[in-house]
Amino acid sequence: MSDKNTRREDLPAKQNLLNMLPSEAEELLRGFAVEHGEKPFRGSQVVRHLWQNPAESFASMTDLPVAFRDLLEERFTIPRLALATRQTSSDGTEKFLFRLEDGEFIETVAIPEGSRLTLCISSQAGCALQCAFCATGAMGFTRNLQMFEIAGQVREMKLLSPPKPVTNVVFMGMGEPLMNWKAVDPTLTVLNSPAGLGIGARHITVSTVGVLPGIVALGERPQQFRLAISIHAPNDELRQSLMPINTKYPLASVIEAAKVFERRVTFEYVMLGGINDGGEQATQLAELARECGAFVNLIPLHPGGAGDFTPSSPQQIQWFSRRLRAQRVEVAVRKSRGMDIAAACGQLRVERQGRRTPVGADKDGNVQVA
Ligand code: SAH
Repeated sequence: MSDKNTRREDLPAKQNLLNMLPSEAEELLRGFAVEHGEKPFRGSQVVRHLWQNPAESFASMTDLPVAFRDLLEERFTIPRLALATRQTSSDGTEKFLFRLEDGEFIETVAIPEGSRLTLCISSQAGCALQCAFCATGAMGFTRNLQMFEIAGQVREMKLLSPPKPVTNVVFMGMGEPLMNWKAVDPTLTVLNSPAGLGIGARHITVSTVGVLPGIVALGERPQQFRLAISIHAPNDELRQSLMPINTKYPLASVIEAAKVFERRVTFEYVMLGGINDGGEQATQLAELARECGAFVNLIPLHPGGAGDFTPSSPQQIQWFSRRLRAQRVEVAVRKSRGMDIAAACGQLRVERQGRRTPVGADKDGNVQVA
């Protein structure tokens, strides 16, 4: 591998094959093969090494002629994400910290459950939203991730030895995916398409604070991608105090968007002791959930986020969930995983880098709807 400086210079000339759709890569590579006196199928062979059966470099694509591998190396890149830290929890949850080319760190969490392996991926380096209890919000926003950096987190799991076969993906790592729709939109295609990672759309969940244009754009995709909305408070006053984005997208508009969304929506509700876990809030939340037929996921607060919050007790969470059920709402209590490895949003990176002063990034400026 060349060093950072020479890579930078090389970049404009070389094309990143992981930053385009597999169909685009296929067309490009079949043409490239022919241009260099090879059969078009050689191009298709390369495509299979991008996502389906990933290769760590062109050199390791041993089913291709050496001379062709050298040509590929001169024209294209297939960048890896550098693994900086890997931690395993006693419950089997694993947390990965990746370092990107510009030195930014992002987190990925792998959560095994029976035959499933759910990968929790990041969509931005940092986050502009500053939800009061969230570690990522506290570090501020640096930049949007590119497609290859988002889908690359799943690709890297296939390159581990032994590889980790990911069955489900949730956009619940760092960042707000619907404020990076420009990259998340094609990433969903790569995750889902058979020429990409081949993960069923129903096994891919986009989690959002309720960015309306993004919800509309996700709803317009024909595939059955799932939508989870971080509600966390059942009235504007409380939600405002926990989630500043509520000024831009107030609860009523988020509920309306959830109603219009054609598929079933999940509400995420992090349980904050003495703040949002009382009887009145259960009743208000039940009304909202019934209004749009949402399923409610109660999330125990992961300690070590941000702010001075106390997790609701397990008894309180059970009581709250019974109140919802009694009001005809389907509810599940999410198991808290990876407690011993700081596995909640943004926590590993904070552990490594220390907190930074949050930057007041323009919340509106990042909304990119294709
Ligand atoms: N920005 C998106 C996705 C990333 S966060 C969103 O907000 O939905 C994924 C989920 O983790 C969100 O529901 C978020 O509120 C929650 N979360 C953040 N910090 C947490 C903590 N300390 N404990 C439990 N859940 C947390």
